[in-house]
Amino acid sequence: MRHVIALDVGGTGMKAALVGPDGELLHQDRRATGRDRGPDAVVAAILEFAAELHGYGERHLGEPASAAGVAVPGIVDESAGIAVYAANLGWRDIPLRALLSDRLGIPVALGHDVRTGGLAEGRLGAGRGADRFFFVALGTGIAGGFGLDGRVESGAHGFAGEIGHVVVRPQGAPCPCGQRGCLERYASAAAVSEAWAKACGDPDADAADCAKAVTSGDPNAVRVWGEAVAALADGLVTAVTLLDPRVLIIGGGLAEAGSVLFQPLREAVESRVTFQKLPTIVPAALGDTAGCLGAGLLAQDLLTTTTAEVTP
Ligand SMILES: [Zn+2]
Repeated sequence: MRHVIALDVGGTGMKAALVGPDGELLHQDRRATGRDRGPDAVVAAILEFAAELHGYGERHLGEPASAAGVAVPGIVDESAGIAVYAANLGWRDIPLRALLSDRLGIPVALGHDVRTGGLAEGRLGAGRGADRFFFVALGTGIAGGFGLDGRVESGAHGFAGEIGHVVVRPQGAPCPCGQRGCLERYASAAAVSEAWAKACGDPDADAADCAKAVTSGDPNAVRVWGEAVAALADGLVTAVTLLDPRVLIIGGGLAEAGSVLFQPLREAVESRVTFQKLPTIVPAALGDTAGCLGAGLLAQDLLTTTTAEVTP
């Protein structure tokens, strides 16, 4: 059966699937990245895992995969097929697309993890049917992706959508990126965890605990949460002003707080817009499978494009 390889590379683990023509998952598997053995070992593990998946299709599905899509963290130059930088994997300028297509002998698409997840949310998940959407993942950091007519914009150098480094508090907290007051220093799951641990005096308390304390009316938690929501709304209004999306899709760990986040966030965004059109603000629907599903879409798009290019 005709299928593609979808591979989502995270910091510690990789998730993979073989995806059929109608998006059906024909086979799923996981591996560790082995990043404690260094950046080259991670690349070797990806190549090995992809080759195993290729072999699996040949043995069990009657033919090997026709294409592969691979989502990786950090900064990714999608048009050049290069993993430019990934702090959690120790990567710099890895020509991953060429390495994979040489190893597998099939076309390969390389994608940024958050943009790839956004692609899946926009086409299959919370933004299904929306011609223009902005996807934001609130995790350890914050990143986003602007979806337009079925694709997600990567920018001239692979840096588009980095809303986590939009300055929302000028002269605020220093960020590892070199600026001060970046959105991700205030509204990422990591930033809220840090602020709540400090406020409640429990070093192990995290953002989910803060959300629970908000529900029970703890004034300290309400203050910490409110500051994060205000910063997030400031950042999102910048995105709304620049992009005029129809839908804002919010995912990542912090979005799991549900209405504790979404109700005040919708109000905060609404109170800030003046002339801008208010987008619908919805939680992401695909959870941690979004990256893998998006990688499958990248691979399938490659086949559609290739076919279109050779058809007179
Ligand atoms: Zn920053």
